[in-house]
Amino acid sequence: MSEDMVLWSMTCNACDHEWMQSTPEGSDPTKEEIECPECGSTLLDAAYVGRS
Ligand SMILES: [Zn+2]
Repeated sequence: MSEDMVLWSMTCNACDHEWMQSTPEGSDPTKEEIECPECGSTLLDAAYVGRS
């Protein structure tokens, strides 16, 4: 089993908070149950950064 993680630059569309999020390789962060740590919104943009 691969333990590779992918790093994403996340942006909240509700409050414009930005943070870094890692997910297992092959997963889509916009389909994961990720919430904005500031406001709890799930209206997020994810930009690929690279493998962590
Ligand atoms: Zn937010």
